[in-house]
Amino acid sequence: MSKPIVRFAPSPTGLIHIGNARQALMNALFARREGGVFVLRFDDTDLVRSKREYADATEVDLAWLGTPPDIVVRQSERVELYDEAADKLRNGGRLYPCYETAEELEFRRKRQLARGLPPIYDRAALKLTEEEREKLEAEGRKPHWRFRLDHRVIHWTDMVRGESHVDCSSLSDPILVREDGTYLYTLPSIVDDVDLKISHVIRGEDHVTNTAVQIQIFEALGTHLPLFGHINLLTTASGEGLSKRLGHLSLTSLREAGMEPLAVAALAVLVGTAESVRPVADLNELASLIDFTHISRAPAKFDEHELDQLNARLVHEMPYEKARDRLKKLGIDGDEAFWLAVRTNLTRLPEAKQWWTVVQGPLSPVIVDKGFTEVALKLLPSAPWDVSTWKAWTEAVKAETGLKGKALFMPLRLALTGLEHGPELAALLPLIGPEKAKARLSGQSA
Ligand code: GLU
Repeated sequence: MSKPIVRFAPSPTGLIHIGNARQALMNALFARREGGVFVLRFDDTDLVRSKREYADATEVDLAWLGTPPDIVVRQSERVELYDEAADKLRNGGRLYPCYETAEELEFRRKRQLARGLPPIYDRAALKLTEEEREKLEAEGRKPHWRFRLDHRVIHWTDMVRGESHVDCSSLSDPILVREDGTYLYTLPSIVDDVDLKISHVIRGEDHVTNTAVQIQIFEALGTHLPLFGHINLLTTASGEGLSKRLGHLSLTSLREAGMEPLAVAALAVLVGTAESVRPVADLNELASLIDFTHISRAPAKFDEHELDQLNARLVHEMPYEKARDRLKKLGIDGDEAFWLAVRTNLTRLPEAKQWWTVVQGPLSPVIVDKGFTEVALKLLPSAPWDVSTWKAWTEAVKAETGLKGKALFMPLRLALTGLEHGPELAALLPLIGPEKAKARLSGQSA
């Protein structure tokens, strides 16, 4: 296979979510694996809804995932190319002006539905005479432009879905150009795919029908066809589609919540495929697991709980070198011993903050039995402390008080950490150190 050139083409109308990340990663990792090129194309022809800040956030999100694009293009800067293509279609008689208002179209649509007919555009504008058109224009009406579809069945071999076809006789002629001269998604996407020599159009399966329409436009423009692959969409666990409005599944919010990019990437790519959702060592391993012919046809259900589990598994195994800078940024000055003591208690790395407070103080101890903690205080081994200190100490306390198990450990944990659960005290105790341990066992905040 020659090197693929692929693209991820979001419209920058919101923060991208984990479902968008799935489409982005399928492209980016495929390009990475095959030594190809990954293009980020902003579909920002809708000047009202598109925002530069969303485009910028998308670039930050992709960099965070570890898949920055090789090339970035913005459709808003490429309108001349679309004008050329539109002219070519006009000259070929495939793009025709229509003057219906939105209300008129809606009225016709309702009438068709009421008569039990499919609500397809009736091509009334094609029957207008020159005079009728001039009259409408003289009234101040501006045309929108539709592509005249051939009423035939379009076939293609989909990278994901195999032999595919759509009968275009059941479709309305798509509007390519709005009244104000701006473009809807359909044509610019093709023009850019041609101009950037996109070899594989890998996108969500919500675009299957578009593909049939676009194949006709590619053909009308006399250009080569890319291969198409339509990937199942990510939905919530209850089957709802994700939307850019669902802020909490945006990559930005997942990043801010301290999620591991590799956990987000692994879930986004592996869910709804033949592979089990599991931690991976790196993006190269994840790329090696992509097999377009083994992506399920059913929606890929996204379970936030599964993401947390995946994240936790990555954090539990994270070496100190990988965590160090991020801990520093969170104001955590802990060394490797600290990290190794706490990492298995974390679902997300920033939760280490809580354990840093336990080690550093100050915290208010919880004393359940003053007499008991006084005895324990007296039996504290002398410094220096290490991981064996806890065992030596608790054995001495056990021998003295006759307490064991939870009755022995829980009051000590509560006094030393103020909490009922947490990392192994054998590891924490030397990090807390004698001074703070003594104060806490005496009931003082330290
Ligand atoms: N802007 C389109 C979308 O976000 C791109 C579809 C495509 O990849 O062609 O759905």
